[in-house]
Amino acid sequence: MGPVSINVGYDCIPMPLHIETPLIESAAMSSAGQSVWLKMEALQPPGSFKIRGVGHACEEYARRGARRFIAASGGNAGIAAAYAARHLAIPMLVVVPETTSARALELLRRENAEVIVHGASFQEANALAQSMVGATDAFIHPFDDPLLWHGHASMIDEVARAGRRPDAVVLSVGGGGLLCGVIAGLRRNGWSDVPVIAVETDGADSLAQSIAAGARIELARIGSIATSLGARQVSQQAFDWTGAHDVRSVVVSDAAAVAACIRFMDDHRIVSEPACGATLAVAYDAAAMLGRFDQVLAIVCGGVTATVAQLQAWQATANK
Ligand SMILES: *Cc1c(COP(=O)(O)O)cnc(C)c1O
Repeated sequence: MGPVSINVGYDCIPMPLHIETPLIESAAMSSAGQSVWLKMEALQPPGSFKIRGVGHACEEYARRGARRFIAASGGNAGIAAAYAARHLAIPMLVVVPETTSARALELLRRENAEVIVHGASFQEANALAQSMVGATDAFIHPFDDPLLWHGHASMIDEVARAGRRPDAVVLSVGGGGLLCGVIAGLRRNGWSDVPVIAVETDGADSLAQSIAAGARIELARIGSIATSLGARQVSQQAFDWTGAHDVRSVVVSDAAAVAACIRFMDDHRIVSEPACGATLAVAYDAAAMLGRFDQVLAIVCGGVTATVAQLQAWQATANK
C-alpha cells in the first residue's frame, strides 16, 4: 500500500487513505499452545482503525461529487473524517457536543476541520449536523454505512495476504461498524467460520444487552469511560450478524480495560483508549477466556482521545 496521495481532482486514481498496519505476535499475551496476534490499527496516521472505513466512504462520496463532508463525532470517527477531508482537499464540518474535550477539539482543528460546538450530548450535536446536510454535502456516519464496513474489511484482507488464518478474532464494539467490517472481511476471504469475540465495557454494552433480550435494545445512558464504545444502540446490521455469524459477546469492566491499556504501554509501547483496552483485556486473559483457540487475532483499534495522564488518573480512581 503506497503513501497517502493528495488528490487534486475527481479523476485521479484513488489511493487508500489508510496504511497497511503491522501484524505482530505478542510475546506478552501468548502462552504455550496459544498465539495472540495483534493487528496494529493504533498506528494508523489518525490513530485508529476508523480511517479505513471513513477514508473509503469519503473517497467514494468525493467521487460522487460531494463538495463538503459533515460529521457529528468529536471522537476518532470525526478525527478520521477530518484527516480524509484534508487529504482529499474537501471542506469538513464537524458538530460536537459541549462535553467534547479540549484535546479532541485541538485534534480536529489540527486537521483544518470547521468545528461547531453545540448541545449537551451527542444527540443534540447530531441533530444539528443532520439539519445542515445540503444537496452537495455527504454525511459521514461513525459506524452505520456499508461503505464504512467495506473499508474496515481491508484489515482482514491484509491478514489473509500475510497467510495468518485466525481461529478467533477479538475486537471492540461500539455501534458495531468494526464488527460489520471484520465479518465482511472474514467472509470475503473464505473465513466465514471464524468466530468473532465482541467485547464491550460494562455501561456501554448495547450489543450484549441486545443479544440477551433477543432484540436490538437502546441503552438509556452510557455509563462507561470508554466513550468510543458509547453508542446507545448498535446498528441493525451488527445485531443481525449475531444471528448469522458466530459472534460471542464479552463484557469487561472499565477498570479491566484501563489496566490493559497501561500494561499494553509497557509491553508494546503504544497508547490506546479504554475502548481498545476492552479488547486488550480479553487478549491478555486469552488462555482463560478463550481457551481452545490456537491462533487469536486481536484488533488493536487504537484511539487518540485518551492521554497517558488520563489513563493513569482513571487507574488511580479505580484502585481507590
Ligand atoms: C469507534 C471505535 C470503536 C468502536 O467501533 P464501532 O465501529 O463503533 O463498533 C472502538 N475503538 C475505538 C478506538 C474507536 O474509535
